[in-house]
Amino acid sequence: MAGSGVARLYSRLTVAEFDLIALIRGRCAIAREDVRLGIGDDAAVLAVPSGQLLAVSTDTLVAGVHFPQSTKAYDIGWKSLAVNLSDLAAMGATPAWATLALTLPQADLRWVGDFADGFAALAREFKLALVGGDTTQGPLSITVTVHGFVPDGAALLRSGARVGDAVFVTGTLGDAAAGLRCLNKNNGEVDRLLSAPLGSRETLIERLNRPTPRVAQGLALRGRASACIDISDGFVADLSHICSASAVGAEIDIESLPSSSALLNLFDVGTRRAFQVAGGDDYELCFTAAEADASSLLGDLARGGCDATCIGRIVAEPGVRVCDGAGSPVVIPRSGWEHFV
Ligand code: ADP
Ligand code: MG
Repeated sequence: MAGSGVARLYSRLTVAEFDLIALIRGRCAIAREDVRLGIGDDAAVLAVPSGQLLAVSTDTLVAGVHFPQSTKAYDIGWKSLAVNLSDLAAMGATPAWATLALTLPQADLRWVGDFADGFAALAREFKLALVGGDTTQGPLSITVTVHGFVPDGAALLRSGARVGDAVFVTGTLGDAAAGLRCLNKNNGEVDRLLSAPLGSRETLIERLNRPTPRVAQGLALRGRASACIDISDGFVADLSHICSASAVGAEIDIESLPSSSALLNLFDVGTRRAFQVAGGDDYELCFTAAEADASSLLGDLARGGCDATCIGRIVAEPGVRVCDGAGSPVVIPRSGWEHFV
């Protein structure tokens, strides 16, 4: 899109803008029948299959807020799509298309090529087509909008949790927050982190930079989970959204929160639990389901390659209470990430 300024400057930026768009288009070329018109005109023209509804979600990543300034372009490309796919997963939607609004400090073709490769690697996994976007100059910021399909009435909502339902989480919690701590380690921590079992640090940093959107798990939960959300801001904060939307509360057993061996290797129990309840950036699914369905549901998820863990239950009293093994409440200083606080 055009910016203001003298004609000479405008044309120089315009040439770079179209080079960048051509580069992104080439790296992210994924063919789909339902894309009647993709990148190149004033709007994409797309065909929604009959009987399906469109699920649409947008997330912005700002440098220094959503990822460290030092993050590699490839990882930023991956993560900008992953966090959006995670929202479709939480709705039980099948990914189809995306648009990409890219604000860049300069027209760096190499950076954009690497970014597009990271984006395309994940897009290819889900046969998702990049169908348009916008490219502008300014402080680094990436906004992706994803579109997916869900049959009428099948979307997983935050509002369906019922008293007596069990609460579950996919995968493990706290890894991404631990990965961020590994990158920002203070002096006292350096030796311990560097002497940790081989690969633990790298595993945690990879969980921060390349989250796995639980798309297949979201699809498996359709018709079975009573409520679902993806964990982006912090487990307790996100479970609170299910509770308020469903007008219920939850009791969580802190000792049942699933931990990766990398997390167990590197951090003491107090630090680990702080990452797990409030760290955020997990992109796991938190969902509720009737107790009676739990074992078949967990079996199906495990067979699909992703374990889920029962971590508590839905109760009538509003709010999320986290308890220790003895049933005593654990105080959570800050439940999750919030902007403007
Ligand atoms: P307009 O000026 O009509 O808004 P643009 O010049 O911004 O069009 O974009 C030209 C084409 O390139 C459009 O199809 C647009 O969707 C696409 N596009 C622009 N930037 C991106 C991007 N970062 N990623 C994908 N497609 C893009
Ligand atoms: Mg435009």
